[in-house]
Amino acid sequence: MRFSDRIMKVKPSPTLAITAMANAMKAKGIDVIGFGTGEPDFDTPRFIKEAGIRAIESGKTKYTPAGGIPELKKAIVEKFRRDNVLEYSVSEVTVNCGGKHSFYNLAQVLWQEGDEVIVPAPYWVSYPPMIQLAGGAPVIVNSSEETGYKITAADLAKAVTPRTRAVIINSPSNPSGATYTRTELESLSEVVLGHDLMVLSDDIYESILYDGAAFCNFANLSEELKKRTIVLNGVSKAYSMTGWRIGYIAGDEEIIKKVEILQSQSTSNPTSIAQWASVEALTGDQTVISDMVASFDRRRKLIVDGLNSVPGIRCLIPPGAFYAFPATKGVYALPGWKKVEEKYQAPHRSSILTSYLLQEAKVAVVPGVEFGADGNIRLSFATSDENIAEGVERIREAVGRLA
Ligand SMILES: *Cc1c(COP(=O)(O)O)cnc(C)c1O
Repeated sequence: MRFSDRIMKVKPSPTLAITAMANAMKAKGIDVIGFGTGEPDFDTPRFIKEAGIRAIESGKTKYTPAGGIPELKKAIVEKFRRDNVLEYSVSEVTVNCGGKHSFYNLAQVLWQEGDEVIVPAPYWVSYPPMIQLAGGAPVIVNSSEETGYKITAADLAKAVTPRTRAVIINSPSNPSGATYTRTELESLSEVVLGHDLMVLSDDIYESILYDGAAFCNFANLSEELKKRTIVLNGVSKAYSMTGWRIGYIAGDEEIIKKVEILQSQSTSNPTSIAQWASVEALTGDQTVISDMVASFDRRRKLIVDGLNSVPGIRCLIPPGAFYAFPATKGVYALPGWKKVEEKYQAPHRSSILTSYLLQEAKVAVVPGVEFGADGNIRLSFATSDENIAEGVERIREAVGRLA
């Protein structure tokens, strides 16, 4: 069979693959503790589910405008006003089939062969393949533990070429939880303005912030930067609605129109029922978010403290999102590591460590190499306190054997 060059360049989502592997082991009766999935473990709040049920029962089950129902667009505009102090008109927002689809649409509309897009690492696994699917080239800019996994203005400036079209900012970040402060964004913005770049601000974790941190994005900095920024967001993470598949974009009206054209010739509208449920999510009781964040905060401390007691592992406390992203270079230096490398041969050390943990500790984590950081692994702490305590204990035991 001959396939397109386009699809031959893309590999399957590694996070979904690891979850599938852990589930296969569980199906065989093996008790695996999963830190793989990137989704809240809570049920979708009752009032949101009820809005979906009402939509079904009242016959709101037909095609809608490709870019979403006016009620949802209005709710999104209102959300930006309420939560972000940002003014958009209804023609400056559109609704997509999940935040991932929002990014995919933008990539298809904005980039092509010859375009470069700057992606700070560690990055969300899906950015580079979606940029490549559009024909563009992801330009990876590395950051380190020293800067809390954030890039600096100097790092950004070095990566810019005449072909650079945009920079992706995902704050709070998946996988590191890194969150840019207003001052840090201001510093990056000088490079953005100086080189006429566009910013794609992936704000999907904006509400999952700890220690009273305030959220800020590029569009908040000035009118000029708001014009250059496209904000991506969605209901998946904030409202535990990953399966409903609703994401949205706000920004320049011309771009929004193009996204709606693409969507009208591909998916058509996001599911009508999910759109009605999302109206309720965005306009209803917002304390469901703070309740979830309070649980995440407790688990965050539990997992970070636990991981920091494992030989060779060092974990910063993530200021946002629900992932721990410990540095594992110390594990690769332990006396027993050579044997692990021989047994679990793979091109990357973080993948070897992941295999070791899955097979010998029965713990599923995601190798950092998938996020462009081979010296780390990612653990989602959107799981129960019991799982965290038991999982960390298993890691401590398995890695301890290498010391
Ligand atoms: C989860 C996630 C999204 C969007 O997820 P959807 O389920 O497609 O809405 C977008 N960006 C990042 C960084 C994510 O982790």
